[in-house]
Amino acid sequence: MAKATPYQVLVRDLPTRRRFEVPPELVADWLRGLPMRDALGAPDGDPHAGHGAATLDLYADGAHAFAAGPFRGELTVACSRGVGPVTLQIDEQLRVTFMPRHEIGEDDDEDEPAEDEGAEIDEEDLDVFPFDGERIDLEPVFREQFVLALPFAPLCAETCKGLCPQCGIDRNTASCTCEPPVDPRLAALKGLKIPSKAGT
Ligand SMILES: [Zn+2]
Ligand SMILES: [Zn+2]
Repeated sequence: MAKATPYQVLVRDLPTRRRFEVPPELVADWLRGLPMRDALGAPDGDPHAGHGAATLDLYADGAHAFAAGPFRGELTVACSRGVGPVTLQIDEQLRVTFMPRHEIGEDDDEDEPAEDEGAEIDEEDLDVFPFDGERIDLEPVFREQFVLALPFAPLCAETCKGLCPQCGIDRNTASCTCEPPVDPRLAALKGLKIPSKAGT
């Protein structure tokens, strides 16, 4: 059996209401390897990686277990135009169902495009995680919140000017005199110098 973590709750202790905290070291660990996180060059266990907290009602009906309540947190990643940090907020109402793995498999219709009738059940809001019948594990639930909070291209500001592609200066806080890059085809034409003097 896997080692118990602060995010595991035994089914025999349900129903209950618990508060969970996610410390920065864990956020740093979960986000390691994601380009927008690694670009910051933060140290392992970065105390500014982010954090989270949830107060959840946990209950079970025999075959399934449920978790519901607010999750709030934040995480810090790199701006996709510059290198400066961007702090993203998480403020979600969790509604998670834990079900046995074999049920998750049966209900999973991802291979078939069943969009015609799929509108009745709001499956996108129904977060499902595996359940061994003995304990529920909220760690993957919290981890998912941090990963989902990451946009494709985070920006420190809509108006971020990013870095100069030539000298790398941060154009939000400084300026340089680099010329804008020239289209290589035009550069090739400019290179064709016409001799100014006729040969002597
Ligand atoms: Zn930026
Ligand atoms: Zn420059």
